[in-house]
Order: sequence, then structure tokens, then C-alpha cells
Amino acid sequence: MQVGIPRETLPGETRVAATPETVKKLVQAGHRVRVERGAGTAARYPDADYERAGAELTDAQAALDSELVLKVRRPDAAELARMKPGAVLLGMLDPFDSDGLAALAGAGLTAFALEAAPRTTRAQSLDVLSSQANLAGYKAVLLATQYYGRMFPMMMTAAGTLKAARVVILGAGVAGLQAIATARRLGAVVEASDVRPAAREQVESLGGKFIDVPYETDEEREIAEGVGGYARPMPATWMARQAALVAERCRQADIVITTALIPGRPAPTLIQPDTVAAMRPGSVIVDLAVERGGNCPLSVPGEVIERDGVTLVGLTNLPALLATDASALYARNVLDFLKLVIDAEGRYAPPADDDIVNACLVCKDGQVLRSA
Ligand code: NAD
Repeated sequence: MQVGIPRETLPGETRVAATPETVKKLVQAGHRVRVERGAGTAARYPDADYERAGAELTDAQAALDSELVLKVRRPDAAELARMKPGAVLLGMLDPFDSDGLAALAGAGLTAFALEAAPRTTRAQSLDVLSSQANLAGYKAVLLATQYYGRMFPMMMTAAGTLKAARVVILGAGVAGLQAIATARRLGAVVEASDVRPAAREQVESLGGKFIDVPYETDEEREIAEGVGGYARPMPATWMARQAALVAERCRQADIVITTALIPGRPAPTLIQPDTVAAMRPGSVIVDLAVERGGNCPLSVPGEVIERDGVTLVGLTNLPALLATDASALYARNVLDFLKLVIDAEGRYAPPADDDIVNACLVCKDGQVLRSA
């Protein structure tokens, strides 16, 4: 196939959908690969390395005008105008945004939104949410260290003892668990909360203490189990008890990292403004859910602000701050997905009965297939 790798155009998007490593594999498999000049520069993959891997360096037009286009983010209107009807697009395409899907369909594309893959063992190697959230969780802790005016580890020095930082992590999915592991490696004392009962064991296995909000009814317990590994919105009764406990833990905390999300919905509010006001001056909140409305209503997307002496870090797209590794993992996810839809002869041949392929297929030949 003719495969195109355009440079990402969204401001701040430093990642690229294919690296020289994955381009080499595509070329070895018999595909012709066009990489837009500079596509990998921000992720520190030079044009010369793509050329050595067998790609043809082109302009944006040629990369977008390919049979198969590999992207990180959903193409904007200008990019869509340069793509050809009937082309196949792969990327993180926001499967819950119906207007965005309609625009892809309007361009006549067949599109796979990789975020929609099921959370199953077979899908693990192509799971873009996991690969990127893992890096985001790590980076969130490092950002916290940057804005926190004290040490993370306990330290005994000739000039006196410094106490270990107390870190609270809200949401113990992929990002939250990586944040726990990273904060523990730096010597912090870590507590974490999640709605899903399975999270307790995972938090404890990483050396964190689980903030337990017991279920009081069968309904609460059933909803907390989630669906397909994902959380569902919890009843107001449970949320109120969680809020009280979280407020108490936050008052004792130095750092709070929030990662709580519910697919297709605004992020749940977990930290109220009065909790922020009650936190110690110098504390830091990193809100990884900020792009979906935030777990704290005070955090501002793309900004680092201070309220009542507390620093609120609302920086978005943390994986893009680790663009080299984020791209390497994303590109391998893409390659693994392609193995499902390209046959041994190198032709696009998606199987009709594959659960991963069908979950990700959001548009086919110009029709939206998914109700967002
Ligand atoms: P996510 O990004 O959708 O949400 C982050 C976390 O926030 C989740 O753990 C969720 O339970 C939690 N959350 C939601 N509402 C909350 C609230 N009110 N209070 C506290 N926490 C709240 O989740 P994710 O990181 O993508 O992980 C989702 C699930 O998928 C997890 O169970 C994870 O273990 C599982 N998973 C499975 C695979 C696989 O088997 N292939 C791969 C990755 C993840």
C-alpha cells in the first residue's frame, strides 16, 4: 500500500505516528511509505533516519494523498481536504465527538479510532490509551516535583531531617498506577482512590495505601464494577462520601495528582474549591483530566495557576512532553493494529468478525458507523 505519514498540525502536538523503526518494518513488508519532511523533527526523529529506513520524503500534500494515512490526532479541515475519498485513516480520532466523525465521513474516508479498542489481553499491544497514559502518569509526577518547593524523599542531613512528601492520587487506572509507582520511586508516601474495587490490590501492590470509600448498597457496588474495565458515573451518595474523605486526605497532602475519567463524559469533580482553600500553602495539584473538564473545577487547561497558595497544574497533552518515547510506543501500537487489517499479500483486508477492528472502525466509505 501507499502509506503516508504527515506532520501533525495541532499546536503543541510533538508526536509522530511512525518512527524510523516502524517505517522500516512497513517498507520490509512491501509498502511504499511517504513521510512529510519534518514529520518527526519535534519528536527527535530526523528526516535522514526515515530516508535510511526506506521512506520517500515528501510535502504534506503527498503524505496526506495516500491510500493509508497514519496520524496521531484527527486531521483538521485543511488536512481532510487534501485526503482522497476511499483512503484509510488511523489515529486517535476522538470517537465520542460526533461532529468530528461526521467530518471524517464527509471526506469519504474509512477511519479507525485507536482509542476505541477494547481493554482485552489481545488488544494490549495496540492499546494507545495505555501506552500514552503510562507516560502521562510518569510526567505528572515529575511536573509536581518541579512546582513543589520541597523534597519528595525523607532525608536525614546534618542540618536536620526533611519529611517525605505525601502524595494523593485520585483515579488508579493506567496513568494513576504509573504515577503511584513513580512517586514511590522518588520516596514519597502515597495514597490513592478509585471507584473500581479491582484498583485496591493494584494500588497496594505498588506500595500505595488505598483510600477506601466502602459501598453501602448493592447498586453502588454494581456500578463501581464498571463496564469493559472502565468506570461508570457513581451514585451521588457514594460521590458525597468520597468527596468528604478526599477533602480530608487532600488537607494532609503535599501533592495531589488526579486522573479520574469516565469514557464519553465530562471528568468527575473530585476536588472542590473549598478543599483547595484548605490545603497547605505550597501544595501542588496536577489535574490530568483537565481537557475533559478537570477533576478540580479550578484547574485551567494549558495553564499553571496559583489559588490560595496551591499551584494547580493544568498542562495538557503530557505525552507530547515525552515525544520521543510517546511516538515510539504509539507507532508500535499502530503497526500492531495494521497487522489486523492488512493481509499477508500487503492488501487492506479487514476481517468482518474481529472485535478489535470492529470497535475501532468509526467510519466506512464515508459513513459514520458509531453513534458517539
Ligand atoms: P480511564 O483513563 O478511563 O480512567 C482513569 C481512572 O479513573 C480509572 O481507573 C477509573 O476507574 C477512575 N475513576 C473514574 N471515576 C472515578 C471517581 N469518581 N473516583 C475515583 N476514580 C475514578 O481508565 P484507564 O486508565 O484507561 O483504565 C481503565 C481500565 O482498563 C482499568 O481497569 C485498567 O486496568 C484496564 N486496562 C486493561 C487493559 C487490558 O487488559 N488490555 C489495558 C489497559 C487498561
